[in-house]
Amino acid sequence: MTIHYVTTVEDSLSPLQSHIKVLQLLATCFFFFFHFLCFCFSTFETSYKSRALRFCFNLLMDSSSDHPPSSSLRSTEDVQKVKFCQWCGGSTKHGIPEGEERLRAICTSCGNIAYQNPKMVVGCLIEHDNKVLLCKRKIEPSYGLWTLPAGYLEIGESAMEGAIRETREEANADVEVISPFAQLDIPLIGQTYIIFLARLKSPHFSPGPESSECQLFSLNEIPFSSLSFSSMVVTLSLYVEDLKAGGKPKFHYGTINKRPGTSASDINAYTLDHHMQS
Ligand SMILES: [Zn+2]
Repeated sequence: MTIHYVTTVEDSLSPLQSHIKVLQLLATCFFFFFHFLCFCFSTFETSYKSRALRFCFNLLMDSSSDHPPSSSLRSTEDVQKVKFCQWCGGSTKHGIPEGEERLRAICTSCGNIAYQNPKMVVGCLIEHDNKVLLCKRKIEPSYGLWTLPAGYLEIGESAMEGAIRETREEANADVEVISPFAQLDIPLIGQTYIIFLARLKSPHFSPGPESSECQLFSLNEIPFSSLSFSSMVVTLSLYVEDLKAGGKPKFHYGTINKRPGTSASDINAYTLDHHMQS
């Protein structure tokens, strides 16, 4: 009876109804296949392998060189660029955590918040025979331009230890720190510079792996037209002013701000605000 009934129904379909039925069948197959692909993709996304890849990607993105480009801006846009958690590799969501006011990247897996705070750059202004020691950069950014030996402070070291280490790395020079000379904040790029006055323990120096040359310059020879960063222009300008005023170097605090409407690459297009000296 059943076979007879089915045969009877199919026999009764018109050609148009048969086509519609075939199309419905194809649409159903496509629907299930599409969802199967989505399932496979999401599984891969959360797999360990994918997380490991993301983790490596985050590490690479975070391993910036000594001085980030001056155009990099710590802002909402930067927070939104943090797509994956640096601890577990999970995806992040972006929102304002309870009790806070700023947008943060929050891990959807482990819940850690990726706080982005300013980095500290430490270095030495080395005096020797009424000259100062500068290094010509052999790395980007600012390849081929002159700088004081300076770089990012590492976890576990003091600012002074970091400045001495950077001087050893960039100029193969052993120095003794005399006093702090300048703290310069650069809010736009999330950096604070601490520069120490120092003297050579012995009159020996040579270019380290990140430098192509190291050279002593008298005050009138300092290559202001080919310095690497605004922070170096400010530091060396303050130093020259102090000495030309006939006194000893003072201690300076200030905030370096970009002049509105100027090019990010123009290291002289800054204002030194809140300048205090003692
Ligand atoms: Zn996480």
